Amino acid sequence: MKAQGETKAKGFTTRVVHADRHNNLEAGAVHQPLHKSVLFEYDNAQDLIDVFQGRNPSHAYARSSTPSMNALQNMICELENGQASVAFSTGMAAISAIMLTLLKAGDHILVSHYLFGNTNSFFQQLTHFGIEVSFVDVTDKQAVAEQVKSNSRLLFSETIANPVTQVADLQGLGQLCQQHNIVFVLDTTMTPSYLLDASRYGVDLITGSLTKYFGGHGNALGGWVTDTGHFNWTTYPNIADSYKKADPKLWAITQIKKKGLRDMGASISSDACHLLSVGAETLALRLDRICANALHLAAHFQRHPKVAKVYYPGIPQHPQHQLAAEQFKYFGGLMSIDLLADADPITFINELNLVLCSTHLGDNRTLAIPVAPTIYYEMGAARRAEMGISENMIRLSIGIEDLDDLLADFNQALDKI
Ligand SMILES: *Cc1c(COP(=O)(O)O)cnc(C)c1O
Repeated sequence: MKAQGETKAKGFTTRVVHADRHNNLEAGAVHQPLHKSVLFEYDNAQDLIDVFQGRNPSHAYARSSTPSMNALQNMICELENGQASVAFSTGMAAISAIMLTLLKAGDHILVSHYLFGNTNSFFQQLTHFGIEVSFVDVTDKQAVAEQVKSNSRLLFSETIANPVTQVADLQGLGQLCQQHNIVFVLDTTMTPSYLLDASRYGVDLITGSLTKYFGGHGNALGGWVTDTGHFNWTTYPNIADSYKKADPKLWAITQIKKKGLRDMGASISSDACHLLSVGAETLALRLDRICANALHLAAHFQRHPKVAKVYYPGIPQHPQHQLAAEQFKYFGGLMSIDLLADADPITFINELNLVLCSTHLGDNRTLAIPVAPTIYYEMGAARRAEMGISENMIRLSIGIEDLDDLLADFNQALDKI
């Protein structure tokens, strides 16, 4: 649950660096201590019974909950002004938990065409379980509306997609979901709550990876789900009776937590909770720097004679530039470039000295990767073409390095091709 009242009006970084102090930590610790115990002992058996029956919010077994998880969840929930949040071992665990706990065979879902590759692969897998999936163009509300069916339960989109940086029409999607009583699930990995107020768009469940910008230091995996309190779960057919207790705003998140953590077991470690919460303390500072670096570099590439195309929502040439400017505080840290047709992207990447050749994104360090032969290799050329991914595309995740050093490194590599 979020911390109520007094903290609500404070700024993003103030809230994040003071979040743990609401938990009355032992010995005046400023950070939530790392609880490594898997089991929790009770002097009175009734207290343990109450934990199992939901009357006591304490812990029974670390697959379901620990104080370390609670601290991270509280921080996320407070930053997103949600009803409740649940942390998972990875972003993929969080996304798959939503789908496997809220859907049944015979349901239909609307899923963005433009997705993180592993998420795309997971949705293909869901079709083997009797769930009907329509891939839709989330930049075009009308095109999405045409795919809605009477058994449509849920819509899943990212905010800024990877690697082509298509920007979802959040207002349009939110209205559509509201109109058809469809659960709006938004993966905000690319635009954490510092950059986007998802509640403005009627988002019902916020999810994604904590591994990327949230943690930011490339040293811990994590994922999360937050229920914003917007959806009326009394109208949703797939909530089990055992979770229809107390406040209906908590029905779905309880089911996601019980089935997703307790039954499916993708639980986050205390070490990861600690590293991610410490990382998040500088989320806003890092994003200020990352987004400023990215905007500057995108404009530079746009002017550079050896770069054929730049994909970044911050430049006016981007097809959803205006939409991105309305929706996000800044334009994020991810961009892609196509070099001129006769320039070899592999040579270019090999010439970079400072910039790392690595998968991953949202790190403090700037990263480059050739897209088609790596992260989007498995889906094949036809599906890549459908997603607007060129065969020579290079994806860049911009970091917090000093801008002049990044410019110098990119320029010397461009000079050599
Ligand atoms: C990385 C990523 C994920 C998956 O997160 P993991 O923590 O790596 O499992 C999901 N969505 C998006 C947009 C991502 O970039």
